[in-house]
Amino acid sequence: MSKKIQAIRGMNDLLPAQSPLWQYFEDQVRDLMARYGYDEIRTPIVEQTALFKRSIGEVTDIVEKEMYTFEDRNGDSLTLRPEGTASCVRAALEHGLLHNQTQRLWYQGPMFRHERPQKGRYRQFHQIGVEAFGLEGPDIDAETILLSARLWQQLGLFEYVTLELNSLGSPEARAAYRDTLVSYFEAHHDVLDEDSRRRLTSNPLRILDSKNPDMAAMLADAPRLMDHLDAESKEHFERLCALLDAADIAYEINPRLVRGLDYYSRTVFEWTTTALGSQGTVCAGGRYDGLVEQLGGKPVPAVGFAMGIERLVLLLETLDLVPDEARGALDVYLLPMDEASTATALLLGERLRETLPELRAQLHCGGGSFKSRLKKADKSGARLALLLGEDELAEGSVTLKYLREEREQQRLRQEDLIAALTPLLEGESFA
Ligand code: ATP
Ligand code: MG
Repeated sequence: MSKKIQAIRGMNDLLPAQSPLWQYFEDQVRDLMARYGYDEIRTPIVEQTALFKRSIGEVTDIVEKEMYTFEDRNGDSLTLRPEGTASCVRAALEHGLLHNQTQRLWYQGPMFRHERPQKGRYRQFHQIGVEAFGLEGPDIDAETILLSARLWQQLGLFEYVTLELNSLGSPEARAAYRDTLVSYFEAHHDVLDEDSRRRLTSNPLRILDSKNPDMAAMLADAPRLMDHLDAESKEHFERLCALLDAADIAYEINPRLVRGLDYYSRTVFEWTTTALGSQGTVCAGGRYDGLVEQLGGKPVPAVGFAMGIERLVLLLETLDLVPDEARGALDVYLLPMDEASTATALLLGERLRETLPELRAQLHCGGGSFKSRLKKADKSGARLALLLGEDELAEGSVTLKYLREEREQQRLRQEDLIAALTPLLEGESFA
């Protein structure tokens, strides 16, 4: 036998047992986006490498060490997208979607980063993202946050996540703060780890984000960007806070929240949970007013966020918040007991599906002994088997066998079946 080829490390198959939960999650999102007036955009998963270098920033973790970059057959440098915002801006510019108009967009799909795979961190992972263009006030920041909050509510997650908020100010204010910060770090040079020393010249704000416990005390006393905001950003941030207060959305101001991508300005936020260990950020975003111009357009203010589907699905499972509808269980298993009943079972199935579009029914195929047929019915996970044999055929009846409850089986006329199944679909048990 030849050696089996395996999937690439950190890139997962989504198996049939998990897909109902993903579909449930995706359905909730799609529905939510429509309710807020956001339109879906789909972009290719491969882009020119320059797009990500120019937008995410040369000295970020993503661009420095996480991108899947390769040369195609023409010798062009291409990259599997590590995130969705850059592609979204590229597409919006390319198709003139940002000309004197606002856009509220969302996307979903796989992203690729060469990270160390672990629980909640993969090399191919999936994000759902939202981007709103052409609006500079804090009202749209508040709306995107409220939209995410509603999703947590719909999923039953709201009490398990915390909103962390910060403002990065204007590029000018940030540049001034950067100098202050570098002086502070230089005065504490002995405490800095290797990574931070390297970042001191390239990207000192990212040092604030360090999880190194040896640096924690020094970082806690570092000058805060929040205290160095320009007046306009400060006001913008205060208005956002007031809107969130009015909407009764609690938040924690985290002055060390800086985010890993260069393009952010003013508002940044993350939704975090303590239930997933160290991979606790389930959704993150902020404002990126400079990015459209940086990618060759006229200046257009923008705000957005992205959430990681794997982490949210994991969270639903960890907290036992997977509803029955997200388990994908069958309602009925149609079970002809012999060759002669097959056609009747097949047609009965079609009739049921026509009248009860919600019903999930699977037909037993492949014959087998009585015992093995029953075993398959049980293994199908259905609540109910509908048995059809010689007697049922003769009387035009069907036998209901309860597969998940201790209950006597029951024989009904076929024409009464619809009425008997209706309560099942409404989540009730049978009369
Ligand atoms: P982290 O700090 O966890 O590395 P990040 O700041 O790199 O996250 P973003 O680029 O803001 O993350 O992406 C938004 C969301 O996408 C994250 O909050 C997370 O839920 C998810 N995400 C990011 N990287 C991964 C990954 N490698 N595997 C799974 N999910 C991820
Ligand atoms: Mg990361």
